[in-house]
Amino acid sequence: MPPALQPVRGTRDIIGEDSARHNHVVETARKITSLYGFSEWQTPIFEDTKVFSRTLGETSDVVTKEMYTFKDRGGDSITLRPEGTAGVCRALITNGLTQTLPQKVFYQGPMFRYERPQKGRYRQFHQIGIEFLGPAIPLADAEVIACGWHILNELGIAENIVLNVNTLGDTESRDNYRTALVEYFSDHAASLSDDSKIRLEKNPLRILDSKDEGDRKLIALAPIIHEHLTPAAVDFYENLQSALDSFGVPFIPNPNIVRGLDYYNHTAFEFVTIALGAQGTVLAGGRYDGLVEQMGGRPVPGIGWAAGIERLAMLLTSTPTTQPPVIVFGDTAIPTANYLRSQNIKTEIAFQSNLKNALKHANRLGAKWAILANLEGLILKNLDDGSQSEVTLESLPTHLSK
Ligand code: ATP
Ligand code: MG
Repeated sequence: MPPALQPVRGTRDIIGEDSARHNHVVETARKITSLYGFSEWQTPIFEDTKVFSRTLGETSDVVTKEMYTFKDRGGDSITLRPEGTAGVCRALITNGLTQTLPQKVFYQGPMFRYERPQKGRYRQFHQIGIEFLGPAIPLADAEVIACGWHILNELGIAENIVLNVNTLGDTESRDNYRTALVEYFSDHAASLSDDSKIRLEKNPLRILDSKDEGDRKLIALAPIIHEHLTPAAVDFYENLQSALDSFGVPFIPNPNIVRGLDYYNHTAFEFVTIALGAQGTVLAGGRYDGLVEQMGGRPVPGIGWAAGIERLAMLLTSTPTTQPPVIVFGDTAIPTANYLRSQNIKTEIAFQSNLKNALKHANRLGAKWAILANLEGLILKNLDDGSQSEVTLESLPTHLSK
């Protein structure tokens, strides 16, 4: 026998309990986002590399180290999507929707990043996310955040999660801040990590997101954006906070939240748990007013977030249960199953060769009912107490609902 084939490093199969948890997260998000008026979009899992390289920032970790980029057979540079926002904005433009606003988008599916795999960190992982395209008012930011909070509550995991909120200001605030940062970090350039020395040249704000320990010490004493905000940016941030209060979403302001991608302005936020160690960010996002224009569309402001499904699934305290099927065994199993399924009753035909094995199978599935279906008639067996009785096909739904 040739050696068994292995999955690619950082990928995993989602089977059994994992699958039940994964689906529960997706279905909960689908339900709650729909309550807020979001509609699901599906965009391709690979795009022209420029969709990401042009927008995420050439010094962001994702673009410099994590993208799955390759030439396809036609010689085009293709990238497996590392995140969802760029693709949604590309789709907004492609589908001529930049004039049909607002658009409220929900998406879910696989994302790809070449990272060092560890608990809660994979190379193929999955996200749920929303984008609210059109309005540039803090109320929209607050509602998007409230929707995320609602999902965490519905999943029953909100208790140990804290919302951190910050502002990155408007363009003018950021320009002022950048000047202050360059001044500060240039004075300490010798102590910066190599990556951050490059960031200082290309995009000094990005240094704030560095995970290097030496950098972190310098960052702790660096100027903060709040000293450089324009009155309009201050106003936006204050309105966001009072809107969050109105939605009943608890939060703490945290000036260290800067987000890893270049396209954010004004609002940046992260829902963080202490339960997953260093992989503590479970849902994160921000405002990205310049992104659509950067991709060649009419300027359309936007606000959104994404959450890792694997991390949310790990936090679920119980595995969502599904109803076990009714098991049908015997010569007339097919018409019996046909009838039950037409009545919306979950039914499985037992393919075991004898009744004993069929009942074993029923047990493993946690079934409560088995039906022995033969030309002479139907016998309904209660697997909990072993009792059985002869029944008619039409009376089955009534019996089974007991
Ligand atoms: P981190 O700081 O943990 O690397 P990030 O800032 O790169 O997170 P985002 O780009 O904001 O993450 O993605 C949003 C969410 O997607 C994260 O909060 C996390 O739950 C999830 N996520 C990101 N990268 C991975 C990964 N490699 N494996 C599993 N989940 C991930
Ligand atoms: Mg990351």
